Formats: sequence, C-alpha cells, structure tokens
Amino acid sequence: MSKYIAVVGKRCVACGVCMNVCPKHAIKVENGIKAVVDKSLCIGCGICVKMCPAGIIDKAERRNHE
Ligand code: SF4
Ligand code: SF4
Repeated sequence: MSKYIAVVGKRCVACGVCMNVCPKHAIKVENGIKAVVDKSLCIGCGICVKMCPAGIIDKAERRNHE
C-alpha cells in the first residue's frame, strides 16, 4: 500500500484526462460527473495531479484506514 493517494477536489469538469493518464487505472469519471479514485489501486504517483487541466487533484498522505 503506497503512502500517498490522489484526492479529487470540487469543480471536476469530468474531462477524463486523469482517467486516461493513470498507469494503474485507479481513477474513473463516474456518471459523467466527477472523477473518483479507487483507493485500493492508486499508488500516489501524482501523474493525474500534474495533468488535470482544472488543477483540482492533490496528492495527500493516505490515512491508516484507507
Ligand atoms: S496518483 Fe497515480 S495511480 Fe493514483 S490516481 Fe493519480 S495517476 Fe493514478
Ligand atoms: S482531469 Fe481533473 S477535471 Fe478532468 S476528470 Fe480528472 S479530476 Fe476531473
């Protein structure tokens, strides 16, 4: 389990960029509305953080229960 995880903020425009760049297929746009991170798959690599055109993804330290 990696130490970091991607966290999607508000104002996701559901563009799908994060979904397409994630090497672990850990992030998906659900219902065409908002990107959601699968905590069991995300390795916290930060690629989606850099690529999100809206700049709303952050890398955060994973909490113990996640
Ligand atoms: S941090 Fe990396 S593994 Fe996690 S959702 Fe973003 S691109 Fe995927
Ligand atoms: S790249 Fe950013 S704006 Fe686009 S779907 Fe992902 S989180 Fe939402």
